[in-house]
Amino acid sequence: MELLDLSTLLRINLAFNLLAALVWLLLGEVFRMAPRASRLMVATHLVRLLPQSGAAVGPAWQGFPSAAVAQLAWLAGTALLLLALRRMLRCPNSPRDVAWITGIGALGMLAAMLLGPPELPVLIGGVAVIWLSLRTVHDLLAGAGRALSPLQLAIIALPFLGVAALTTARVVALALAEGLGGEPAGLPPLFQATATLVLTFSLTLTLMALLIWRLISRIQHLMLSDPLTGASSRRGFEQTLADAHARLLRGHPYAVVMADIDHFKQLNDRHGHAAGDAALQHCVRLWQATLREHDRVGRLGGEEFAMLLPDADLRGATAAAERMRRKLEAEPLLWGGQTLALTASFGVALPSRQETEPGPALQRADAELYIAKTAGRNRVSAARPERQP
Ligand code: GH3
Ligand code: MG
Ligand code: MG
Repeated sequence: MELLDLSTLLRINLAFNLLAALVWLLLGEVFRMAPRASRLMVATHLVRLLPQSGAAVGPAWQGFPSAAVAQLAWLAGTALLLLALRRMLRCPNSPRDVAWITGIGALGMLAAMLLGPPELPVLIGGVAVIWLSLRTVHDLLAGAGRALSPLQLAIIALPFLGVAALTTARVVALALAEGLGGEPAGLPPLFQATATLVLTFSLTLTLMALLIWRLISRIQHLMLSDPLTGASSRRGFEQTLADAHARLLRGHPYAVVMADIDHFKQLNDRHGHAAGDAALQHCVRLWQATLREHDRVGRLGGEEFAMLLPDADLRGATAAAERMRRKLEAEPLLWGGQTLALTASFGVALPSRQETEPGPALQRADAELYIAKTAGRNRVSAARPERQP
């Protein structure tokens, strides 16, 4: 016995698309969550409503080439979905390829509706849908979701592969019936309606999951980075440092550098807080440019910074600190038509494998920074090996 008959399935599909369109509208317009991607999702679900509403209504729809209209809507829905996915993943690809494939598919379908046998538009539309779905999978494999793990990417790609598979089955079933000269036939309607419903559910859930992932990444970014300078926040830096220390216990060394801008209060007092803020940004920009890609600059608070240098020994870390010191000395801040000279003092230290956490290494680097300050500022002081545990 069948669980659901065709007309019930179509009505569920209709209700789901309507509800999903409303939810995306609410998320995008009221809660301002990924508004452009949400708008594309509203359009995706509304486009899918078109043929379904006709089919669910019944006899009034019979006069239309309903299979072709459904395929056209499925094509437009797939194109909008791909655009929504790209937005959601912040993929910079131009939408031109989607416009081309959809345009050629739609024009081919319209031409076939006027000239060819009744199945031809469905076949042409089907090929365009397969092309778009595989294009989506290609986008994902080519790194559209760089921040996602391979498992997450595979889960996202799955419903798009499902669309490609279902459409291929449909196109082949139609082509075979045509080729054999038999009665035009496609997939069994009940199977097709069930598969369409399952795919619509999974595609919507996938996009919703991506929206939540985006939100979580955004919150994490806000927590882990300093909004003024773009360096790691204290929390973000401590997290990275804890990871580095865990790696040290497995045999991968690292070094820490503490830095503090010299006479920063004077700069604030003489030129204003905005100049102070610009100086903080200037320092981070210069230091990040001096360091290697996997080194990390963190702003611990005020005008105090810390750098984590993976795979560096004391000599290497001291040389890196010296490069940062010289760079800042050589490149003053240009502010309001004035040239403001800036310098900073640095303390360098290594962690020890006997220590279970990175705190003591940071304290040693801070003690060295204090030595650099009292020795006259604008200098680097490194923990001598005998001061290392
Ligand atoms: P020293 O050479 O000994 O390091 O002297 P200093 O003046 O740099 O150090 P002090 O700790 O006395 O002053 C730090 C100043 O940093 C005081 C505070 O107003 C300023 N400050 C802290 N956070 C910010 C910020 O986010 N923006 C700006 N513009 N100033 C800040
Ligand atoms: Mg200072
Ligand atoms: Mg300070």
